[in-house]
Amino acid sequence: MKRIVGLAAVLLSGSLTAGAAQAGVEKLYILNCGEGVAGDISRWSPGVNEGKSMDFVDTCYLIKHSQGWFLWDTGIPDAVAAMPDGLKPADPKAVTWKRPKTLASQLEQIGVNPADLKGMGVSHTHPDHIGNVEMFPTTMLYVQKAEYEWPGADNKPRFKPEHPVTLLEGDRDIFGDGSVTILSTPGHTPGHQSLQVKLPKTGEVVLSGDAVHFKSNWENRGVPVNNVSKDQTLASMERISGVLTKDKAQLWINHDKAQRDGQKLAPEFYE
Ligand SMILES: [Zn+2]
Repeated sequence: MKRIVGLAAVLLSGSLTAGAAQAGVEKLYILNCGEGVAGDISRWSPGVNEGKSMDFVDTCYLIKHSQGWFLWDTGIPDAVAAMPDGLKPADPKAVTWKRPKTLASQLEQIGVNPADLKGMGVSHTHPDHIGNVEMFPTTMLYVQKAEYEWPGADNKPRFKPEHPVTLLEGDRDIFGDGSVTILSTPGHTPGHQSLQVKLPKTGEVVLSGDAVHFKSNWENRGVPVNNVSKDQTLASMERISGVLTKDKAQLWINHDKAQRDGQKLAPEFYE
């Protein structure tokens, strides 16, 4: 009899545990942070597809961790949503960006206030990734020191000096449990970084940032002409490749429209 009661207690406690929120990452939302057309795709893949245009997407990722919300990249500025012809680049070979949906409206749909974010990270400081950083003026920003101190146009700082920031010199385990980890992947810019996320059902995912821009460049190790270091870019790709193998992780490429067209977008989410 005692043994049966004991078994019942185990089963009961088991079901209680299963019902409680588990620690770690609970959900990951893919947000539409811009859609664009590149004038000449060979800018990203030297010698390949010269003069051909290609559609790009721009992606942000919102992570619900048991300790709080974390945003990865902030996309094209929301103000571009009001520009019917989009944001034209100085170089016609680059991307003309549009904003079919604002970041603010997607957060609202999910039920997240900007002040709710516990932290945010940006892969790097190009304008299609930092466009809405100041929508979250009190949120801790995780960025590599090398990126933060990289002089901008006219030697201007890359971020408002008053924005709370944690300057990194390498990798960082954001929540201390190995579920959300910034990976240092320089080359596209001096302090470029990627993000590794451990999802309970989907498994491990690496969010590329601009360590690579689209699948064929990943497969052929193509390095865009404007990257600050070709050697670092190739080393970072090898590093990511090692992570994918070791942790059986998927690579989600920020700007790859073909890949993103096959993914669930917010308010749907990955677990
Ligand atoms: Zn980009």
